[in-house]
Order: sequence, then C-alpha cells, then structure tokens
Amino acid sequence: MPNNSETRLEIDLKALEHNYRYLRSKLKENTKFLGVVKAFAYGSDAIVISKKLEQLGADYLAVAYTSEGVLLRQAGIKLPILVLHAQPKNYRANIKHCLEPNIYSIRGLKAFLEVAKDLKQSGYPIHIKFNTGLNRLGFEENDIALIAEILERNTEIKVKSIFSHLAASEDHSEKEFTLKQIKLFELLAGKLCLKLGIKPFKHILNTSGILNYHQAQFDMVRSGIGLYGYGNEDKFDLKLQVVASLKSTISQIHHIGPNETVGYNRAFNSDASKIIATLPLGHADGIGRQYGHGKTSVLIHGMPAPIIGNVCMDMIMIDITNIDCKEGDEVLIFGKEHSAENFAKTANTISYELLCGISQRIKRVYLGE
Ligand SMILES: *Cc1c(COP(=O)(O)O)cnc(C)c1O
Repeated sequence: MPNNSETRLEIDLKALEHNYRYLRSKLKENTKFLGVVKAFAYGSDAIVISKKLEQLGADYLAVAYTSEGVLLRQAGIKLPILVLHAQPKNYRANIKHCLEPNIYSIRGLKAFLEVAKDLKQSGYPIHIKFNTGLNRLGFEENDIALIAEILERNTEIKVKSIFSHLAASEDHSEKEFTLKQIKLFELLAGKLCLKLGIKPFKHILNTSGILNYHQAQFDMVRSGIGLYGYGNEDKFDLKLQVVASLKSTISQIHHIGPNETVGYNRAFNSDASKIIATLPLGHADGIGRQYGHGKTSVLIHGMPAPIIGNVCMDMIMIDITNIDCKEGDEVLIFGKEHSAENFAKTANTISYELLCGISQRIKRVYLGE
C-alpha cells in the first residue's frame, strides 16, 4: 500500500490490553468476550488487533463482511469469527474459511442450508439474530416456528448462538426502550430454545451495553469502540485508553499579510498578518471537508491550531500564528491528548465515523508490541 511517510497512525497495543481488561472487569468470570474488528478494526489494523485479542484471551471475533474474515484467516487467526452481515453470495466462502454467519432471515437460512448440504457439512455453526427494535437485520417473532421447523429437519447446520443488537445503549434517555429490547430478546430467544430443545449461548450487549446494562450480559458481550478507547461518555472515556493516534508533520510555513487568502476557493481570508502551516494529509485520508473553516483544531506542542479554509485532498492548512513551532515539527491530529470523540464532535459526527474513515494510505505504526 503506498503511503505518505510524514503522516502516521500510531496504534498502542498496551492501551488495547488495558481496555480489554477494563471491559472484562465489568463482566462475570465466565462471560465470553467477542472483539469487534470490522472495518479494519475501526480504522486501525484488523490483523494486528485480532492477533493481540487472541493473545489476550478473547473468545470470539466479529467482522461485518465475509471478505474481512477471509483476510483474518489468511493471516493465521484461529479464533471463531462471527460474520455480522453475511450475505448469500458469500456463504460458500464462509464455510471454506471457517467463518460463522449471522443468519437473520428465512431467505438466508434456506440459502445457507443449501450451501451446507452441498458442501456436506454436519452441525455447521450459525448465529440467529433477532430484531428487537433496531429494525436493521434480524428475524421477527412470527419467524420462530419456521426457523425451528427448518432446523429440526436438517442436521447440516446448528445454532451456536442467538443474539440481538441494542439501538441506543449509550443514551440514558432511552433506558426504557433499551430494557424493552432486552426483555423482548429474552422472550424470543427463550421461545426458539424451547422449540429446538437446545441451549445455544446468548448475547446482546455492545460497548455501551456492557458499561450501562451489565446485568444483561447473558453468555457473551460484543465490544468494538470500547476496545479502541472510547466509551461514548466522558466518565468511561476516563477509564479507557486511546489506541489510535493520528500524527503528522509540518511540511511548510507561510507568513501572510492581511486580506490574503489560503487554499482552494480562497475560503480563508486573513483579517490580519498570520502564520500558517501546511500538513500532509487531507480528505483522501479521512479528514473530510467538514473539519475545515476553523471548526476543528489539531495540536502542536499541546497548543490548538485551527484547520483553516477548505480541506484539500492531500493537504490541510492550519493557523499557527500564536504557536512556537517550525517546519518538520510533529502535529497531533487526534489521539491520546486530543480525543477522536471531541475532534469528531466539532463536525457533528462520532468517534466511530472518524476512526473508520482513516484511509489505508496512512501508514500504521505499532507501539507496545
Ligand atoms: C459494530 C457492532 C458492535 C460493536 O459496537 P460498539 O458500540 O462499537 O461496541 C456490536 N454488535 C454489532 C451487531 C455490531 O454491528
């Protein structure tokens, strides 16, 4: 992968370890822990993060799509992998690479069964997902009879777990709704178990679920953002450690007079003499145009420097008028002392989107291996 050598994403594996242990400390001894490593492990590095989680004793991994799981298998990851958005076109690849699909519709259940028969499987693990209010993926209550009928007649596949996903586990004003989701999940999972006469394991909590509703941990939890250091709430952010820090370097400094402009469309217009610096990263790297026009700052030697004008594809310009710095100095875009959550907030988005958007052009550097 080509990259620009002066901008890098530092990935702190000691921080990952801390977060894993912190989240685990909220759970009962024998609750299983699934690490969510979809989207390049939230924009960091799925292979390195998965290897570390495997070494730390995680029980499961999850990816969104089959091809993400194939990459992990090719890298030698042995943990069971749940494919959260398995698609019929990829069912063969799932079995070939020992990836366990989320089955969320009758269409999917029938199609996966056909593939499992064709590949002469016996008891291939699948995970049944119920929709309890997110209205994204999942079976409904009135599917239960047919699911049970299909599964009873066929031994090629077997339900390893039953799960659901919370819509607003981080939002305290939605507590009533969340508790309703948990109750409905218990009811639906109970009905299916009764019909099938088996006891697959159950899970519904994501990171904020673990932090706010640990009583509903069932047999496993699924954590993504928390592992990467963000808890969707200040009090949890304080307990977690940031894993990914995006750092860059000043390429050039310009001194401009009053009424000069900076960047495309002359979007920044100086009202006085200013000192500005150019950095080697832009919207092609995941720092989108929404962060321009003075809304968002980066840190140089701990001092905030606003991103000015329009963000370019490969560069951004920042105002360093009151900062003592020189060409070649390091700049923290976001990370340990400048959280992705706060950076993202300046453009009305969330840490998840900012982190996942950091492009593959940016070199990954590892600390604490
Ligand atoms: C992404 C995802 C998670 C992880 O959520 P976090 O808030 O990052 O912990 C868990 N479960 C499902 C189904 C997901 O899609």
